[in-house]
Amino acid sequence: MNIPEGYWGIYKDKKNMPLERFDPFRTIVNEFGTKVGHITQFSPLRGNRPFEHQQSDDEDEKVSSPPTDSFCKIIKGELPALVITKQDEEGEHPFSTSPAKMNLQDNTAISIVNLFTPMARVLFEHTQKTSMEALQDRSVGIGLVHLLTKHYDTLSEAPIDEVYSLLRTTQLAHKRSIEALKERYSKDQFTTLHFFNIGEEAGASICHLHSQTYIYANNIGHGWTSLGFLSVPEFHKKVMKNEKYCLACAIAKYRKIAKDPIGQNLLIEERIVYENKEWFVFTAFSPERDGQIRLIPKKHTSRFTELDDNQLNSLADALVKANIALDEFIKNSPPNMHLLQDRNILIRQENEGYDSGMHMLIDIISIQRIGGAEKMETYRIATMFPEATAQFMRQSLIDKGLMSKK
Ligand SMILES: [Zn+2]
Ligand SMILES: [Zn+2]
Repeated sequence: MNIPEGYWGIYKDKKNMPLERFDPFRTIVNEFGTKVGHITQFSPLRGNRPFEHQQSDDEDEKVSSPPTDSFCKIIKGELPALVITKQDEEGEHPFSTSPAKMNLQDNTAISIVNLFTPMARVLFEHTQKTSMEALQDRSVGIGLVHLLTKHYDTLSEAPIDEVYSLLRTTQLAHKRSIEALKERYSKDQFTTLHFFNIGEEAGASICHLHSQTYIYANNIGHGWTSLGFLSVPEFHKKVMKNEKYCLACAIAKYRKIAKDPIGQNLLIEERIVYENKEWFVFTAFSPERDGQIRLIPKKHTSRFTELDDNQLNSLADALVKANIALDEFIKNSPPNMHLLQDRNILIRQENEGYDSGMHMLIDIISIQRIGGAEKMETYRIATMFPEATAQFMRQSLIDKGLMSKK
């Protein structure tokens, strides 16, 4: 098969490979020799990717893709794909260059290589076995897409057991890809960006429900946000004068009396939307957008690949319910809040090969119009307290019979 340059992250010519630039006015090299700052990645060939949303003239009508999108075609065997995992079963090697058409309808969920990745996965000829130094500013790693074989537009409408299958196949695909990267580049540190884009305005080019993972073998992903999450655990330990201290674990254990190391009243009980055996669903104490939801595992876990089977099962339940609660909140939000149903789900976790003690968390953030002040800083002006948002969300889950009244 003749593969066009850049498809599935396969490059013949180094000069076509995606590259990254750091904003020189806001980038430092930290004590580990890693660049930290604002990163922009340039991936010119990516401009050719298709956009598959159905256009509608009626503004109120829900935008959705027909079940004839590329993912549905891959599943029916009409388009080629590089299948890394089929549910719990291993497929192609993560560095495979042999895409194939196959009927995948018997599986609930699969992980495939992203057709349009912002990084190079396989480099033919000169760069195939080269060291990271020789690649300089080029972006290398593995881009994955995880999807359900049935066509859903959102997580809210997907059955919980299918979401659980999706999480399992995703986890296996992550593990296989990290192993392959360790072997190829002889290094242990990788940045994992794992997220869902749900809806057009949230950046999804195909509506068919899917999540994505970018695993970078170079330094990309070490932005200020990631640095913040990774620096805080050490700060907390110092302030609390306790080497074993973890804020999320303290919240899970002590609930009402859990103290914020910087002295705020965290209003834990007021912000709980839902909880099951393994997960809390909170409205965020300091939301980036109205209605922001934060999921936290009750047991200390740093990475998605470290979640055990009970945690994954409970996560499927928590994710679906959190998304339904957010749907209802947005449907009833005042028009001047400018909240859209489209959303991103960000799985924030410890980077591979780091040991910061970070407790992983998952943020669900809707699309909302923001202004200059909010772009200037990690800063936000909100009009509603998360305690009130949580109260509304709890009630909507009770009304739908998805949660019992306490
Ligand atoms: Zn589809
Ligand atoms: Zn913890």
